[in-house]
Amino acid sequence: MLTVAQARDAILTRIDRLGTERVSLLDAPGRVAAEQIHATRQQPPWDNSAMDGYALRAEDVALATDGHPVQLEVLEDLMAGVMATRTVQQGQASRIMTGAPMPPGANAVIRVELTRSRSRDHVEVLEPVPVGNDIRSAGEDQQVGDRLLEPGKLIRAAEVGVIASAPRSFIRVYRVPTVAIVATGDELVEPDEVPHPGQIVNTNAYALAAMVKEAGGHPIILPIARDTREALEEVFQAAAAADAILSSGGVSVGEHDFVKEVLEQLGVQMGFWKVKMTPGKPLAFGHWGRVPVFGLPGNPVSSMVSFELFVRPALLKMSGRTRIFRRMFRATLAETVQKRPGMPHFLRVTLREVEGRWVASSTGAQGSGVLRSMSRADALAVGEEALTRIEAGTELWVMPLDDQWGMTDIRPV
Ligand code: AMP
Ligand code: MG
Repeated sequence: MLTVAQARDAILTRIDRLGTERVSLLDAPGRVAAEQIHATRQQPPWDNSAMDGYALRAEDVALATDGHPVQLEVLEDLMAGVMATRTVQQGQASRIMTGAPMPPGANAVIRVELTRSRSRDHVEVLEPVPVGNDIRSAGEDQQVGDRLLEPGKLIRAAEVGVIASAPRSFIRVYRVPTVAIVATGDELVEPDEVPHPGQIVNTNAYALAAMVKEAGGHPIILPIARDTREALEEVFQAAAAADAILSSGGVSVGEHDFVKEVLEQLGVQMGFWKVKMTPGKPLAFGHWGRVPVFGLPGNPVSSMVSFELFVRPALLKMSGRTRIFRRMFRATLAETVQKRPGMPHFLRVTLREVEGRWVASSTGAQGSGVLRSMSRADALAVGEEALTRIEAGTELWVMPLDDQWGMTDIRPV
């Protein structure tokens, strides 16, 4: 039996980044840059004022005080977006707004609060200012040719701004995977159907599709495949155009578990593993040409936990991401739980912060069919392989199940 780490490594070494596509700035957040972006302009393009005030010569106001202000003649009003027409000479200033280009001759800005003005064409300066005061220098942000963005960089809001400043309205990024989802089982009906006796609702396809979306991919749910070789073959053929294929169910050792056999017949290089973990265990993985195929277990919790541990990092890697794993942290278990020895147990837990420490509590019944154990959970806590019970107060590694764990509802000060 493989350990979780071994199975994950075996999968990830066989996963490649997808190709690239061009997206607009609006579609760029969350994507990974596939090209280098250079600055084609200096930014800011010219020295400009950091304040609303007056552009002047620092030497003219060296002796200014509140009691003995220096009076300067005001030449013109400079707004953002307009170049100056007059040169500031001795005894002169120009009224200037934030972002407006500095006029020639001036070497400092004094902000309006440090002046008095009794008329439009004169200003009294109440304090000296050093040369360069409140000026934003040309090129302090970007020089022509600066590398603004490297390939491989995850694009966030700030990067979108930087790309726009290049200036550019689009960028080449790695594609995100289209993921075909195949639920298998004679017993399955869709959520808009009424299950007859013996039938159960296909929840896996929808939960897995949601996980694909959360990982930035595009899910496509295919029709349910019945437990015959023909039906499975037909649905897998329909999935062949996707970037990755997920199936659920039919990978155990039951009479009607044909998934592995059919995939092999279709030419998929299959690895079939038992992975040392609860919930989970059976996991098929292979490549159909360039397309990775994941045969996930049918039990709802097992399929989701297997996705979390094996599929999610793979999809993120395909999208060009390098930080593909959730950050884990330590938490203290609130109550004693029983566990099967010989397997690590991915316990569904809630998390709360108590005096700066994380406390994990079991979400209750932990069976691999108890989907609400996932719905109630904030995280998976890893119960070590050897243990038969995990005592209250034990520190465990926990893996949050969504990005909210960077967030809080405590109002900031
Ligand atoms: P299997 O691995 O196909 O034997 O499935 C294991 C268990 O998971 C069985 O109880 C199935 O009914 C259940 N199951 C399989 N596929 C799904 C699905 N798509 N949605 C919900 N439950 C499923
Ligand atoms: Mg089945």
